[in-house]
Amino acid sequence: MESTALYYQESGKTNPLGISLALIAGLAAATTLGFVYAYATFYIPIIYFNFILTYFFGFSIGYTVGKVGSLGKVRNSRVLLLTAIGLGVVGIYFAWVHWIAAASEGGFWSFNLSTVWLFIQLIAMEGAWSIFGYTPTGGTLYLIWIAEAAIILFGVVTAVVAGQGSRPYCESCDRWLSPQQITERVRGIANPIGFRKEMESKNYDALKQLPEAGPAARNRTSIQLLSCKGCNNQHYLTIDKIERSVDSDGKMKEGKTRILENFKLDRLTYQEILDWGKQF
Ligand SMILES: [Zn+2]
Repeated sequence: MESTALYYQESGKTNPLGISLALIAGLAAATTLGFVYAYATFYIPIIYFNFILTYFFGFSIGYTVGKVGSLGKVRNSRVLLLTAIGLGVVGIYFAWVHWIAAASEGGFWSFNLSTVWLFIQLIAMEGAWSIFGYTPTGGTLYLIWIAEAAIILFGVVTAVVAGQGSRPYCESCDRWLSPQQITERVRGIANPIGFRKEMESKNYDALKQLPEAGPAARNRTSIQLLSCKGCNNQHYLTIDKIERSVDSDGKMKEGKTRILENFKLDRLTYQEILDWGKQF
């Protein structure tokens, strides 16, 4: 069935091998990093560092699931997201098991849920750590732990898409499309919303009339075409806005904002934009 959508939509298809690989890799990440995270947070009492560590613990699990799922040709973001969240919970559980082992100097090391829960309750009464002479216990400590788990799961959720990437998939050739950078040297788009509307109503002059940007231009536009090398039947356009700014330290920074992602093109328009891009 030919879709009439303006943008690429994933088919939602999965395959047992891809899901298994994502699951195994994610589980390896969750168990290994759960161990590393537990010992790092136990032995390095720098709260800001731990905060970043908490986020990246989750991020690494989510990224692994997204990346391996994509390598395994899984075209279902929701399945990968749910897999990653499940493994995030596994990671948190492993971190608890190892944290208890670290805190008891290896004396207690149990994967049993009721034993772990018993220790959590004991630690909540005693307090786990102190900051500025204050040792949170009871309800306060539980709230901190819930916040910690939430940061980890937030890391997981934000990372899955980053790991997956945003390339479209060709269902007939069974492959991801390869992106091709056309140019980064087009003048910045002043009105992205208006531009998007023009493109969606197939007025491609909105793109082709963009003038070339000077080498010192602060705002530029990056144009990418994605095409299936197998059947030459699937074509998409992705456009980013590149903005240069100077930060408070006087350093030059470049930020990217997506204006158009995987916008569907017919073969003729694809060829036209490809030819147009040759002037840059
Ligand atoms: Zn194809």
